[in-house]
Amino acid sequence: MTECLFCRIAAKEIPATIVFEDALCLAFDDINPVAPHHVLIIPRAHFATLDEIPASEAALLGHMMTVATRIARDRGIGKSGYRVVVNCQAAAGQSVFHVHLHLMGGRPFHWPPG
Ligand code: 5GP
Ligand code: ZN
Repeated sequence: MTECLFCRIAAKEIPATIVFEDALCLAFDDINPVAPHHVLIIPRAHFATLDEIPASEAALLGHMMTVATRIARDRGIGKSGYRVVVNCQAAAGQSVFHVHLHLMGGRPFHWPPG
């Protein structure tokens, strides 16, 4: 059995509020949301960090991004605005080492981020 938390969520071994899934990826609500909308989009395939994703997986990354935009539109924040973030490595704030997009919306965001 894999030790990876997000692989286990993808395998339905650990419960999550899944909001979208297809053959390539899965999206679920963050357990500790930092905004009214906070969804994580993960590939089914395990890559620990963004740095580990090869150029040959560019289509997978693009697909995950379009899943994020679709969820944002479905939630009515496509025009009002939202943020998509990938934390790559611990120094950038990554705490779960299975690559994921954060889709956050429903409140104002500041720049630069902390
Ligand atoms: P990171 O810090 O790696 O960029 O983001 C990891 C995210 O995963 C955090 O926002 C955290 O709240 C979320 N998270 C951690 N454990 C779980 C869990 O068991 N279930 C869900 N749904 N989200 C989790
Ligand atoms: Zn994993």
